[in-house]
Amino acid sequence: MKPKTRLIHGGISEDPATGAVSFPIYQVSTYKQEGVGGHKGFEYSRTGNPTRHALEELIKDIEGGTAGFAFGSGMAAITAVFMLFNSGDHVILTDDVYGGTFRVMTKVLNRVGIDSTFVDTSNLENIQREIRPNTKAIYIESPTNPLLKITDIEAAAKLAKKHHLLTIVDNTFSTPYWQNPLELGADIVLHSATKYIGGHSDVVAGLVVVNSDKLAEDLHFVQNSTGGVLGPQDSWLLIRGIKTLGIRMEETEANTKAIVEFLQNHPKVNKVFYPGLESHPNHEIAKRQARGFGGMVSFDVGSGKNADQILSRIKYFTLAESLGAVESLISVPARMTHASIPAERRAELGITEGLVRISVGIEDVEDLIEDLSQALQ
Ligand SMILES: *Cc1c(COP(=O)(O)O)cnc(C)c1O
Repeated sequence: MKPKTRLIHGGISEDPATGAVSFPIYQVSTYKQEGVGGHKGFEYSRTGNPTRHALEELIKDIEGGTAGFAFGSGMAAITAVFMLFNSGDHVILTDDVYGGTFRVMTKVLNRVGIDSTFVDTSNLENIQREIRPNTKAIYIESPTNPLLKITDIEAAAKLAKKHHLLTIVDNTFSTPYWQNPLELGADIVLHSATKYIGGHSDVVAGLVVVNSDKLAEDLHFVQNSTGGVLGPQDSWLLIRGIKTLGIRMEETEANTKAIVEFLQNHPKVNKVFYPGLESHPNHEIAKRQARGFGGMVSFDVGSGKNADQILSRIKYFTLAESLGAVESLISVPARMTHASIPAERRAELGITEGLVRISVGIEDVEDLIEDLSQALQ
């Protein structure tokens, strides 16, 4: 099955009970048993719900794993994955991971004894150097937010295997349409499905796919025990969103390419961050491990004042956090998504006051370029 076909026909694409072509929303908490324990695969909706199950089978197929799991948010998914570890365990993470991931590691999971170290994983030596006797996993985001840094997932997974560590990849920015970390040797792939997978700025959700029966059993145990599951309505919205993921990503890719070209040639733009650029330090790795470069672009306009001017004039790009939807969004990471990171640390990472991040949508690109052009005047 080719990728766009799988998005539509993967998983459980119709209701076996009725033939309904849109998988129904099973708005139900409990299921009648024909005698104690005699159920049809569902007992209680925290443990399993047919609509959530259809979504979980679909994301499993798309990422090419052994089991899928749907959670109430990306952060619930990430937290559940870290609940696979024990007090005293240590994990190595990409230094510019999503702010919420940094927060849960350093303000919540540290309190239950899960230790973390943040390094620039785009250089494997940094990972190697931090591996300790109690290290249990490498957690990678590639590309990262907002500087679009790329880590060689295959090489990192090889290094991890050598040291008996799990490789976990947050694949939110690439989506399973462009990049499949399990095929590159990762053990667990996860998504904030709030972004491209949902794709319409109308649902908050998280998805995880694992590559072994043991991990599937362990993560199902955590999911059922801690209970951060996705409801049936939101599961249905994601199934619906996934059907058009391919055409949305193709359109986004084409728009982004044109916008990057425009920005690169604009005199008021100092630097453009995009893995599709040949000048990107890990462009070759990005090209090898992903089929597309995505719709996230950051560019530096020199100062917070310049960034403010753009924000006040832009029309079609909505000033908002989040990303990955049909509508184009714009933000200033230093004062929005990355505001919770101390200024000193932001400077270290290169997240300047004049850094503007856009999430390219699927509007007509001529309109988007015209809009950026007038805002940059
Ligand atoms: C948004 C995001 C998350 C968190 O997901 P929520 O659905 O907001 O909880 C995690 N990782 C990345 C890369 C994200 O962009």
